[in-house]
Amino acid sequence: MKVLVTGGAGYIGSVTTSMLLDEGHEATVFDNLERGHREAVDPRARLIVGDLRRERDIDEAVSKVRPDAVMHFAALALVGESMERPELYFENNVVGGHHLAAAMRRHGVRRIIFSSTCATYGVPDRVPISEDAPQRPANPYGESKLMFETMLRWYGDRHGLEAVLLRYFNACGATERLGEDHEPETHLIPNVLRVALGQAPAVPVYGEDYPTPDGTCVRDYIHVVDLADAHLRALTSPHTGAFNLGNGSGFSVREVIEAAREVTGHSIPTVSAPRRPGDPPALVADASRARRLLGWSPRHPDLRAIVQHAWAWHRAHPRGYAGS
Ligand code: UDP
Repeated sequence: MKVLVTGGAGYIGSVTTSMLLDEGHEATVFDNLERGHREAVDPRARLIVGDLRRERDIDEAVSKVRPDAVMHFAALALVGESMERPELYFENNVVGGHHLAAAMRRHGVRRIIFSSTCATYGVPDRVPISEDAPQRPANPYGESKLMFETMLRWYGDRHGLEAVLLRYFNACGATERLGEDHEPETHLIPNVLRVALGQAPAVPVYGEDYPTPDGTCVRDYIHVVDLADAHLRALTSPHTGAFNLGNGSGFSVREVIEAAREVTGHSIPTVSAPRRPGDPPALVADASRARRLLGWSPRHPDLRAIVQHAWAWHRAHPRGYAGS
């Protein structure tokens, strides 16, 4: 299939683009390279540098490529930043998403695989979380993703758009060539590995008084290759709608740090820090719908293996893509 990948220079988008090409699909990446990296774009892919906030950029790209489907990764994705600058999230994720959906409509593109998030659930009543749990986002990031989910539902209802909403839990891990490189980096695993690389003195632990077994937040860490695999399945699946993507097991911040100590052999000092606004205490996926309908089964569920893969990438790219 011919696929337009928005955000294909980013972390999950770049891994998925490479896997699409490996499987014989044709991929065009659309990215503004603000947070993505040119070096992360597979050389077999065509790259269009453009910005979703400019309606003309995306309209021209869709009209030029005429894709069979769009995979939409391009977005801002930091909970903390979204609490400080919500306007950025509505502009990039909602207005940008609107421009994309409208361009697809104009040019007759009928299928979209959308990178949504467990942050659309907010603080869940119970874990594991299934797709029919109430969606009450606790931060503007989750809200912006939910707003675009809603838009896509109406496009489906009114215009027959086929939308697959993939709600990721915590993306992590790496391939040999592609890994996580954000500036600023706020995610737990890369921050922990920076300490192991000697680039930061200690990991801040944001909140130790949550209602969880050790008081730190619990998340469901899912390997980026498993997320990419779900996209490929969603591309050709007869099923649409929402799918949670996670391993179904939760690890606390302290458990992640402990796993990284084992993998790296570094003591990884920590420092207590206040809770980060917008962080729910525990997010763990019930991904049985993806298993059942997409035939998806994570191949890298082991936290140590995930941290190991991330560590191998960070050691090989201590300055991220800038040094490659
Ligand atoms: N976290 C932390 N120290 C860090 C980075 C993150 O304690 O340096 C915590 C964060 O508060 C959250 C969990 O680790 O509870 C996962 O955060 P991350 O930013 O990786 O992903 P999110 O769940 O926000 O998407």
